[in-house]
Amino acid sequence: MWRLGLLLLLPYAAFLLARAFRLTLMPMLGSDSVRRTRRMAPAEMVRDPVCGVWIDSRLALDGWLGAERVRVCSEQCRGRLKTLA
Ligand SMILES: [Zn+2]
Repeated sequence: MWRLGLLLLLPYAAFLLARAFRLTLMPMLGSDSVRRTRRMAPAEMVRDPVCGVWIDSRLALDGWLGAERVRVCSEQCRGRLKTLA
């Protein structure tokens, strides 16, 4: 009896996988999204000296590492600057 359940479940699982695949990958492959990315100004990336992550400078926070002005990714990293200096 469990075989019958499995037979019914497999096509459904395949259908769910196919749908998830379409939803996640198709927007990336679409020509519309490609055009959108090209039109966008390239983001200036800065490196957070605390955790080492690269961030968009427009989203970065200003912090001070001694006398040097640095850009950090979050309020937590700004707090940790004091322990680094
Ligand atoms: Zn950080």
